[in-house]
Amino acid sequence: MTTATAPTTTATAECRDADLLDERKKQVHRAGQGPVDMACNRESLAGAVSQRACVFCGSRVVLYPIADALHLVHGPIGCAAYTWDIRGALSSGPELHRLSFSTDLQEKDVIFGGEKKLAAALDELIDLHQPKAAFVYSTCIVGLIGDDLGAVCRKMSEKKGIPVIPVQSEGFKGNKREGYLAACKAMFQLVGTAPTDSVSPLSVNILGDFNLAGEIWIVRGYLERMGIQVVANITGDGRVDDIRRCHGAALNLVQCSGSTLDLARMMKEKYGTPHLRVSYLGIEDMADSLYAVAEHFESVDPGIVERTRDLVREELAALMPRLRDIRRDLSGKRAAIYVGGSFKAFSLIKAFRHIGMNVVLVGSQTGTQEEYQELETVCDPGTVIIDDANPLELSHYVRELDVDVFVGGVKERPIAHKLGVGFCDHNHERKIALAGFEGMYNFAREVHASVMSPVWRFVPRRSKRAAAPSGADA
Ligand code: SF4
Repeated sequence: MTTATAPTTTATAECRDADLLDERKKQVHRAGQGPVDMACNRESLAGAVSQRACVFCGSRVVLYPIADALHLVHGPIGCAAYTWDIRGALSSGPELHRLSFSTDLQEKDVIFGGEKKLAAALDELIDLHQPKAAFVYSTCIVGLIGDDLGAVCRKMSEKKGIPVIPVQSEGFKGNKREGYLAACKAMFQLVGTAPTDSVSPLSVNILGDFNLAGEIWIVRGYLERMGIQVVANITGDGRVDDIRRCHGAALNLVQCSGSTLDLARMMKEKYGTPHLRVSYLGIEDMADSLYAVAEHFESVDPGIVERTRDLVREELAALMPRLRDIRRDLSGKRAAIYVGGSFKAFSLIKAFRHIGMNVVLVGSQTGTQEEYQELETVCDPGTVIIDDANPLELSHYVRELDVDVFVGGVKERPIAHKLGVGFCDHNHERKIALAGFEGMYNFAREVHASVMSPVWRFVPRRSKRAAAPSGADA
């Protein structure tokens, strides 16, 4: 593919206007132009340089925030460096998760096997750090040489008296979604291994929030004001002992498209624990999520719905006046969204509407056909919907659609900066909490600061836009 340089005036349902590789054309759709029939949820096209992460990275990002566990990457040092401290997942106590350990496999280990090295590393690290559990991640090379992770972990678990859990996350065996499943299978080995005596009938586990910038504390605060006990954070600010007894909770709240849904399904099957899909991003989704939880517990605690209404009313009374000025400045500006799971995109589209902005591009690494079909129903006509994009495609659409702010993660940041477009980190590295009602204000303020920065007038493409008649672009 070559990068297109001129804005396009015609568009078809398959986006033939964009200079896409032929095999990628069925992974792009424009809202309102024919039925959504995306060739998504499959392996990335070889050579297309996907934005996706590997299986190992998927499992690592899910398990990483468990703060009192040891995380040992069995593989070459590059894999560990790739995922070292990549999330701003905060802990209210231990911070063992912030350290990244690797067996640093070398050529000799690849030839003769790395099991001895792994056993020695576990022996030393467990004695040194006294973790509550250890997760051992398999990487590409381990899958190729065939080290028996399970056997090493079993022996070490018996020797040290703590759970030592293999994470079958060989990078090549799929995409990030398989990594989520590997992480859920690993966590499920802990679930149900501790007593649930002190768990209230009004209790939940929070799944799929990683406590970036302290977000899980905001959500826990709301739930506690409603009178609900949170048994386990899975996994932001997570603790091994909480996960071990989380099967005692009455309900699982599952955020995010795919990362912990498999764990919720396993718990439903084995322990009968129901789950609700929720989102804490944006005003409607945060309020709807709290109301859904309240309705679930209404038969146990009839006053909970009224308490929830009071909470939402109080929060909105504080938030709405603060959004007004921001909305005035941002009205009509254009946003692009590229996220890991498409579920988050729904909340972001609504959040942008609250601040008067139009979403013109929305995409995800791992969306499914159903999710994209549903996504189209909330998009404005003409919005480009893209699956498993690569940097050249994203750059093309950011230019063509004349975007003012790009919301993405660590791999999208340089695209925005190189194109002279504002950026809002909604993923790994963010330092500002964007969840809940206060998170909505933080989000609006961050987007405002980025879009309204005077620096953009020095970017050649943007300066031409300022000088050109309305609607024209360089
Ligand atoms: S597991 Fe494989 S794909 Fe993933 S970082 Fe390591 S070498 Fe790369």
